Amino acid sequence: MALQLKNTYTKRVEDFTPLDPSGAVTLYSCGPTVYSHNHIGNFRSFLLADVLRRVLEQRGHSVRHVMNITDVGHMTEDHIADAAGEDKLSKAGRQLGLHPYEVAARFQRSFEEDAKALKLKNYADRDAQDATLHPRATQHIPEMLDMIQRLIEREYAYIDSVGQVYFSVASFPAYGQLSGKVLGELEAGARISVREEKRDPRDFALWKVDPKHLMQWDPHSAEGWPDGEYARLRALVPGGVSKSIARGFPGWHIECSAMSRASLGPVIDIHTGGEDNVFPHHECEIAQSYGARQTADAPLNFSRYWVHARHLLVNGTKMSKREGSLITVKALLDPAHAGPNRLTPELVCAGFPHGQVSAAVLRFALISTPFTQPMNFTVDSLVQAQANVSRWQSLYDRLQHVGGTDVAAHEIRDLVASALQQFDAALDDNLNMSRALAAVFHVISNANQRGLSAGDALLLRQFLEHADEIFAVLDPPLLSGQLSNTELKQLAEDPAFDATLGEADDARTVGQLLAARWAARSARDYARADQIRRHLAAHGVELDDTRDGVRWRKI
Ligand SMILES: [Zn+2]
Repeated sequence: MALQLKNTYTKRVEDFTPLDPSGAVTLYSCGPTVYSHNHIGNFRSFLLADVLRRVLEQRGHSVRHVMNITDVGHMTEDHIADAAGEDKLSKAGRQLGLHPYEVAARFQRSFEEDAKALKLKNYADRDAQDATLHPRATQHIPEMLDMIQRLIEREYAYIDSVGQVYFSVASFPAYGQLSGKVLGELEAGARISVREEKRDPRDFALWKVDPKHLMQWDPHSAEGWPDGEYARLRALVPGGVSKSIARGFPGWHIECSAMSRASLGPVIDIHTGGEDNVFPHHECEIAQSYGARQTADAPLNFSRYWVHARHLLVNGTKMSKREGSLITVKALLDPAHAGPNRLTPELVCAGFPHGQVSAAVLRFALISTPFTQPMNFTVDSLVQAQANVSRWQSLYDRLQHVGGTDVAAHEIRDLVASALQQFDAALDDNLNMSRALAAVFHVISNANQRGLSAGDALLLRQFLEHADEIFAVLDPPLLSGQLSNTELKQLAEDPAFDATLGEADDARTVGQLLAARWAARSARDYARADQIRRHLAAHGVELDDTRDGVRWRKI
């Protein structure tokens, strides 16, 4: 079965096929606005993108995953298409006594710490170092102005008397297609411009003018632009942008249109976000990207699939910044530094020391409800997550130490084969996380009820590792052990003894290597014994020779 995804744009569950016949996938996710620590609701939508990427990679696709950083232009009233209020970065700067750029730097770091802790793959390994996968809005102002200029030239946008630019919603008849909103709703939810220069109340700003704003760009002068940025604007728009666009800053919606095109091209495979992004943010992105299209045959909708995570509630109620009820990732992972939050007393009662939750438990709790369902986050959900992660980990640890025959029992073969099929099918079914987990825990319960051979353990371990490629909650197994001289001799004399220097990645292979070392020493081949010791050390295995045998531990 192919991977199927619920596409918000068509409202249908559809088979996923990438545009590129080679199977490479382009994935864009609306990332954090870096004006405060990110909360668990933000991370649920980032984790949807992470799980989706992991599933695509497990199906053999290579995925280029771009998640932007919004560091300018996101206003406090962002539920309205043409948001008014104060820039979130400026407001935080005022409250913290910092320049907005310092606010952005501080909270970008905070976000990166959370992303690494929660094992977002786009913040691991090479991806973490690749700035093109984490574009920042303030570094893409030329691309935004280029798009704005195209929109003006094609009459999708117009400039008001003070030099602000608005997108004309009437120019794009498909506006409302993604969110399903109809004209009346759109008008009722629109902000009437203070200066009332908007042609239609639904129109939204692409470029804003506010002399008090602390982050400004003058489209007609190199002054104040970071090195090379103004030259890039001139290269993108050789004739210069319209003279009547004034010094100002971009609207939030144009940022993602410009950054996704700059980093992934004019048409992308999948765009993700939280359901609160559907309107207005993503609706506006579609309109802008189409208006600024570079080719005549560009599709109306630049993203072939739109995938959204439903909202997250805490104890049945919506989190609110105004009411101070936001639960940040930091508040759960590191309450000693972040300070107590409203869940802390209940968490302490439930046995979490100081209210601290491990990153694996938080990740598990946030991804174990299907993303197509609203999630109710409670202390009880963390208690359950902790119990489940610990059951999964303890079986995984136990499997490293199983000895005996290499032959797997046919019951275990059948169990693993059917669980594997169910696990993959559940994820193919629009990322049904709870069904995928049911397959994992069916295996865990069965394995815990029976004696296992080394062959069983290998199959079970491979299945648990396959599941963990998606869930990413397991720690590497704690490996240590001790073997007496008698046991080493038995191993070395066993017909199945393998004296080749293989990988020392489980207790069984370490045992084989130690037996080979014992045999070499018995034959007074000290060079060979030393070679094996060095081989083990290179695999992180420390040895401690005792009178009766050897103790070892993998670090
Ligand atoms: Zn966005």
